[in-house]
Amino acid sequence: AAVIVGIDGPSGTGKSSTSKAVAAKLGLAYLDTGAQYRAITWWMLNNGIDVNDADAVAAAAGKPDIVSGTDPLAPTITVDGADASAPIRTHEVTSAVSAVSAVPEIRTRMTELQRAIAAEAPHGIVVEGRDIGTTVLPDADLKIYLTASPEARAARRNGELKGAQAAGLAATQAALLKRDAADSGRKTSPLAKAGDAVEVDTTELTLDQVIECVVTLVEE
Ligand code: C5P
Repeated sequence: AAVIVGIDGPSGTGKSSTSKAVAAKLGLAYLDTGAQYRAITWWMLNNGIDVNDADAVAAAAGKPDIVSGTDPLAPTITVDGADASAPIRTHEVTSAVSAVSAVPEIRTRMTELQRAIAAEAPHGIVVEGRDIGTTVLPDADLKIYLTASPEARAARRNGELKGAQAAGLAATQAALLKRDAADSGRKTSPLAKAGDAVEVDTTELTLDQVIECVVTLVEE
């Protein structure tokens, strides 16, 4: 039977690297739900929609066509057919995404997309996000909640950003904590650990150790 794994947690805990590697090792599909929220945010910015105007965001929630490719070795995302992989990682999108993803109409649309993709994965899927275990896939076979200290998360995130995108550690940490507070504080499906999720603190672990830990939990 298809195996469904949900991996949640705040940013900088290693969710994406872990989810991709676990999916590749186990022959499963992979879905980055954060990339979908970033993609719809990118579209809002491109179309002159004020991301702080919840009514305007809600009214446009159904407009862009967002397609995710689920190969863990080469995940893709397009918006109305255009490759969005690079532009969804800019500071502009990162600082606007929490406001867009707090709008209930946006969450309803993304949740539908995510459930459809998970249902179509023949061998199963690893889905990463903030509300996978609590809301999107409450019946997942395994739920993981990744955590790490703010210092470790900021250091990892700074390592991922290149050149002009890389800020000072303190600035990165402040931006991360601000986004987590927004994601945890919103009314509709906030960032939260599901009651039946396994919590893994990755602060003192290498990526390989986290991957091994999750693979072992899937195989149990
Ligand atoms: O994982 P990533 O940092 O790319 O996610 C970007 C943003 O998308 C998060 O800060 C959050 O606002 C939103 N998000 C969400 N629900 C998810 C995944 C991401 O609200 N399941």
